[in-house]
Amino acid sequence: MTALARLLAERINDSGPITVADYMADCLLHPVHGYYLAREPFGTRGDFTTAPEISQMFGELLGLALAQAWLDRGAPAPFALAEPGPGRGTLMADILRATRAVPGFHAAARVTLVEASPRLREVQKETLAGQSPVWVDRIEDLPRIPLFLVANEFLDALPIRQFQLGPQGWQERLIGVRDGALTFGLSAAVPQVPDTPAFRHAPAGAVVEDCLPARRAVAEVANRINRHGGVAYWIDYGGWRSQGDTLQALRSHLPDDPLAHPGEADLTAHVDFEPLAALSQACAWDTQGAVLLRLGIDARADRLARNLTGAALESHRAAHRRLTHPEEMGSVFKVLAMTSAGAPQPPQPPGFA
Ligand code: SAH
Repeated sequence: MTALARLLAERINDSGPITVADYMADCLLHPVHGYYLAREPFGTRGDFTTAPEISQMFGELLGLALAQAWLDRGAPAPFALAEPGPGRGTLMADILRATRAVPGFHAAARVTLVEASPRLREVQKETLAGQSPVWVDRIEDLPRIPLFLVANEFLDALPIRQFQLGPQGWQERLIGVRDGALTFGLSAAVPQVPDTPAFRHAPAGAVVEDCLPARRAVAEVANRINRHGGVAYWIDYGGWRSQGDTLQALRSHLPDDPLAHPGEADLTAHVDFEPLAALSQACAWDTQGAVLLRLGIDARADRLARNLTGAALESHRAAHRRLTHPEEMGSVFKVLAMTSAGAPQPPQPPGFA
């Protein structure tokens, strides 16, 4: 049993079963035992790898997309260049390097990172040395100026609740203790579930997930962009309206039982984009593969390949395929791009034209 499993079991024995969201929140961000506070999640020695860690091309193309979107909207100054959940800071470092030559972009950018883990803030500080980023705790704390935001694999780390439609109505999936071990169970019927299409159209027996913190984060960004202008790219794995239990744990790059190693495994859930897209009056949605192709990843890959040979060239080619191919990250990962509504209608965000 992990140290966190013992703490959770004690709490459950004292005051009853907890929701999947409470469990996820403690597993990821418990101040002492939380996964993002105590572990090194990323890279070959970590538990998983992410698109910016796979290739510099990911951040470069998104950086140029943000810069083009900024130019298309009249190059407002100052503006917030924001990233929630920056991990090691690699994506923002690649964005800043790729946009160095865009006149005025760096001078106008207030680089703002939304990060909950003090340990990862330290890592980001090192990666972004010389760029003077500012950290905030919550999306609500972003400066109230035009907002150009990118988030990769941030939403999938936000706590979900799970509900199941039984003969007596909706019940919530809870985590209790049986024979000393954490185990899933069901609550009594709950009076109310979120009013989203996934719940409205669920068949009998279905498990439906809801991520209130994701809806809050995206709603806040959509409102900011409507008021102050800007563009946001949300990149994550998931679907339009997924069904079933998608809670998953990864430990040393291998799937793990989500209840087996609380605090020692990464926990995520599929992102449902339908309820998020509904929060913006002007958004577009496509696969990561399609968006990266439109942003010019093939040309960029060829350009980088010219300076590479042998194993380095092979791993570069593999990274290109991994980011874009439908059987790898190309179709499982989606991009939701949001911009402001109203007239005059600004151009579509780059990658969607
Ligand atoms: N974007 C990075 C890292 C993804 S991992 C990449 O692509 O490599 C998720 C990131 O979100 C981590 O930095 C984690 O500490 C952060 N995070 C998770 N929950 C958060 C929350 N509630 N508020 C702010 N940051 C959070």
